[in-house]
Amino acid sequence: MNKGNKLYEGKAKIIYETKDKNLVIQHFKDDATAFNNLKKAKIEGKGVLNNRISEYILNNLSQSGIKTHLIKRLNMREQLIKKAEIFPIEFIVRNIATGSLTKRLGIPDGTNLEKPLLEYCYKNDELKDPLISKEHILSFGWATENELRYIDRSTLRINDILTGMFRAIGIKLVDFKIEYGKAWNEESGKKEIVLADEISPDTCRLWDAKTEKKLDKDRFRKDLGNIIQAYQEVARRLGIMPEETNISEVNFGKTIPIKFKKK
Ligand code: 5GP
Repeated sequence: MNKGNKLYEGKAKIIYETKDKNLVIQHFKDDATAFNNLKKAKIEGKGVLNNRISEYILNNLSQSGIKTHLIKRLNMREQLIKKAEIFPIEFIVRNIATGSLTKRLGIPDGTNLEKPLLEYCYKNDELKDPLISKEHILSFGWATENELRYIDRSTLRINDILTGMFRAIGIKLVDFKIEYGKAWNEESGKKEIVLADEISPDTCRLWDAKTEKKLDKDRFRKDLGNIIQAYQEVARRLGIMPEETNISEVNFGKTIPIKFKKK
C-alpha cells in the first residue's frame, strides 16, 4: 500500500492518505510529549514498540468481538487502518486511583477502585483535554445517546479483556485512555463505530503486579528513566519479543533491528 499525502500529524503519530479513500496509514513516531506538550523528547525505538504492542492488543480485542480500525501492520512503524471520523472525546477507564484523579479529588494514590471508573475528557490541546460529563457530550452533539451507550459498554468490555490479558503476564492495568471513530464498513455499506488510535504503554498505566514498578509512559512523565526497557518488558511478557532480545539490540543506530517473533 503506497503512502500518499500527510493528512494529519499528531504528537506521537502521523496519518497518511492511501489510494483507497476509506483507508489511511498510521505511522508511529519516536516522539514523546507530556504535560500538554511542555515536556518533549525523542525516545528511540518507542514508535516501533508501540506499533507492535498496539497491533497485538487490537488484534486480541478484535478476536473477542471488538470492532477496531486496524486492518494490518505494514512494517516496523506503520499500520494500515480504516479512516475514521474521531469522536472528540478521550474515554478513560481507571481500576486503581493515580494520576490526575488523585490530584483532582485527593484520593490516595494506589487506591483500588471497587468497580472500573469511566471518565470522559474533551480532546482539545488548547484547553488541556478537560474532564467533561455525559451531559456535555450530548449537549454539544459530540456523540449521540445511542453512540455513547454503545461506546461505554464496549469500553468496559475492553477493560475486562485487557485486565485479564495483563494479569496473565504479571501486570496490573491501572488505567488507560482510548478513542473511537466512525469508519466505513464495506460489508454493511454504512459507517460503524470502531476503536481507533492505539493502545500501548503510551496510553495505559501498567504496573508490575509484584513490585508495582511502572512499565509505561509515567517513566517519561516522572523522569524515572529506562523508558524503552520498560516498553520492551511489556512486549516481551506479551510474547511479542523473544526472551533473548536485550536492550542493546534496540534500534538506536542503523545496525541491529529489534527482533520480533514471526507470526
Ligand atoms: P490521567 O488523567 O491520570 O493523566 O491519565 C489517565 C490515563 O489515560 C493514563 O493511562 C494516561 O496514560 C491516559 N491518557 C490520558 N490522556 C492522555 C493523552 O492525552 N495522551 C495519552 N497518550 N494518554 C493519555
